[in-house]
Amino acid sequence: MTNVLLVDDRPENLLALEGILEPLGQNLLYAQSGEDALRQLLLHDVAVILLDVQMPELDGFETASLIKQRERTKHIPIIFVTAISKDEQQVFRGYSAGAVDYVFKPFNPDVLRSKVSVFIELHEKSEELQRQAELLKEQELAELRRESEERYRFLAESQPDQIWTATPNGELDYVNQRAVDYFETSFTEMVEAGWTNVVHPEDLPRRLERWQRSLDTGQPYENELRLRRADGSYRWHLTRALPMRDRRGSVVKWFGSNTDIDDRKRAEEAQRFLVEAGATLGGSLDYRSTLASVAKMAVPRIADWSRVDMLEQGRLRTLAVQHVDPAKIEFALELARRYPEDPDARRGPPNVLRTGESELVPEITEDRLAELAVDDFHLGLVRELGFQSYMCVPLVARGRVIGVISFVSAESGRRYGPDDLALAEELARRAATAVENAQLYREVEERAQAARVLETVGDGVFLVDGEGIVRLWNRAAEALTGLRRDDVVGRSAEDVLPVWDHLAVRVPVAGAPGPASAETLPLELAGRERWLSISGVGFDEGTVYAFRDITEERALERIRQDLVATVSHELRTPLAAIYGSALTLARDDLELEDALHDKLMEVIVEESSRLADIVNDLLVASQLDAGRLEVHIERCDARALTEAVIAAARTHLPEGVTVELDVGTNDLPLVAADEGQLRQVLGNLIDNAVKYSPDGGDVRIRLERSDEYVRFRVSDEGLGIPPAEHGRIFEKFYRLDPHMARGIGGTGLGLYISRELVRRVKGRIWVEPNDGQGSVFYVEIPAAAESEAGRKLRIEAGAGS
Ligand code: ADP
Repeated sequence: MTNVLLVDDRPENLLALEGILEPLGQNLLYAQSGEDALRQLLLHDVAVILLDVQMPELDGFETASLIKQRERTKHIPIIFVTAISKDEQQVFRGYSAGAVDYVFKPFNPDVLRSKVSVFIELHEKSEELQRQAELLKEQELAELRRESEERYRFLAESQPDQIWTATPNGELDYVNQRAVDYFETSFTEMVEAGWTNVVHPEDLPRRLERWQRSLDTGQPYENELRLRRADGSYRWHLTRALPMRDRRGSVVKWFGSNTDIDDRKRAEEAQRFLVEAGATLGGSLDYRSTLASVAKMAVPRIADWSRVDMLEQGRLRTLAVQHVDPAKIEFALELARRYPEDPDARRGPPNVLRTGESELVPEITEDRLAELAVDDFHLGLVRELGFQSYMCVPLVARGRVIGVISFVSAESGRRYGPDDLALAEELARRAATAVENAQLYREVEERAQAARVLETVGDGVFLVDGEGIVRLWNRAAEALTGLRRDDVVGRSAEDVLPVWDHLAVRVPVAGAPGPASAETLPLELAGRERWLSISGVGFDEGTVYAFRDITEERALERIRQDLVATVSHELRTPLAAIYGSALTLARDDLELEDALHDKLMEVIVEESSRLADIVNDLLVASQLDAGRLEVHIERCDARALTEAVIAAARTHLPEGVTVELDVGTNDLPLVAADEGQLRQVLGNLIDNAVKYSPDGGDVRIRLERSDEYVRFRVSDEGLGIPPAEHGRIFEKFYRLDPHMARGIGGTGLGLYISRELVRRVKGRIWVEPNDGQGSVFYVEIPAAAESEAGRKLRIEAGAGS
């Protein structure tokens, strides 16, 4: 129904108009003033207005002009209704105010009705037109939409990516053909099943979580995941989805895509693998275990199977075989035991070892197998373990093939291509470098070790090259000869080694390593004669000489020889005396005087005792050597002990020798010593003092306290000892006068035994020259700790005083 607005300030007029227009069957609206009319127009869509001209306040013209000013109402036809203004002026004003017609009262109802109905019809027509226009527009839009949808579908289908859409709650409702092809499924199946079945199980939780988050927030979705292809292999995809929203902003659809980024991902993975492998390879010098761990790292990142073979003793030996499933490794090894790899195989590791060339087989098909002419072992691997593709690369170190690394794809369905081969070759290059480094390091280390040994060894070692130049001179050589390395190395042996001429001729150079016979040569060093035992061994770079200083050993050897003479002499003298005396006593043809008889008996007793002493010294010395001499440390009275030894010595003093005791203090502490042994030490010193004073003199024994020690000082005015020999006289068998030029006998054991006995009670012994003439021997023995009783006594005595 169409609205017709009737405006008149008088209700009777409105009533009249109503009566006239009712038959038109339209909806009549009423207004009693201009304002009222404007209000009605705000609320309703009106086809025509019948407007009274004479109205209080806003009159008809003013109201019309306001209506015309409004955009929404300006085209509404206005018919003025008036009783008075018939003059032209008024009519003109009415038209200019926007009237389409003028009706004067009293009006013909039919005329008015038909006029109004014309406008109503017009209005209806225009509305119809508008509706039609709108319909048209809608149709056009629908067409457009369809076209754009088609275009979009076309776009989606022509994409290299998988394209899909999902409902606002995330349910898949469209996938493009590419996706259908990739998964080898039907569109319906795909849309019904969704992604869950095709996403790699490891990537699934993350996908669900991110997708849900996007669905909840309306934020774009993005994720990297592996999608299972129809052949079972997984490829990395970047999956993204954007929401499409309506005018109110709510999501009406999700537009998604899956882009295959497998190559990029693998390249990244390969890079990462190389970096990690590099670090592992560089991190250890045990190349066998490092190569094995690289093989481990490769699975399953770049291969399903990896294997490292190294050339050892002319044969290719498998260092490592790797697969995620230990049972399969066991199976492969069993296969290798049953059908050993053909070392002459035209394919695989043996071939790579032989040729030094990499091998790449992108796809192992049955046809290809026949062509490859593989052995039973490999045939088994391919058939039983489903080998699909492989590559073998040589490990080349210092220009030689030292091993082979192999990568095989099986269950992953991966096909190796040139990029993968490049990666494997790069890995092999790094591995080979690591092996090389490890070998170099070992060589250097061995050399350094040898050098360290040479430096620490006690023997002097030097090397003279074929040109006669000294190339090596170790620390012991420096120490033994006093010649500094810098003064010797790099120079001619002839110039720098004092006995070189001699040496070169006399030292036999053994050709092969082994014990070379040594030569003993004298060498004048720093004014002293040293004896060197030297041997030489020849090798490709010259001759290595080793020498040691045997001066001491030689001296000792001489002493030993002397000793035999001395001891035999020492033993023979008393024996001869005893024998002579005994023989004389035994003669019955001789009538011996009592005095002579007694004298002979005395000789026998004295010489026997001397013999016993010598034998005792030898015994003690050997016990000391064997570490079997027992020591019983007790508290001894130094003074009483010394007095007893002196008394014994005084019984057989030669003429011109006196022995005196001088005790510095009355407060001499007890000493901690083995009494018998201390007696032997003192006896020995006093005997020596007497013995080595052939021209007589005073032997003085002084006892004094020295800190925690009691010091025994035995001085004589006899032959004295050159300071240089002060140390050596305490050595075993050492005598100043081994040939007894002065006729004084001895075994050279007394001082040695004394020193050892003193040491065992933590005492000290040494010799100094005597003022003027002779020697002074000192012995210091630790004072004994005070006994409980002794201390008490002293404290009481102290308290009493
Ligand atoms: P022995 O007296 O049996 O030869 P010792 O070991 O007692 O052996 O002495 C070693 C050497 O020290 C003696 O051969 C002697 O040359 C020298 N010697 C020891 N005591 C004295 C001394 N008081 N005066 C001079 N020389 C001594």
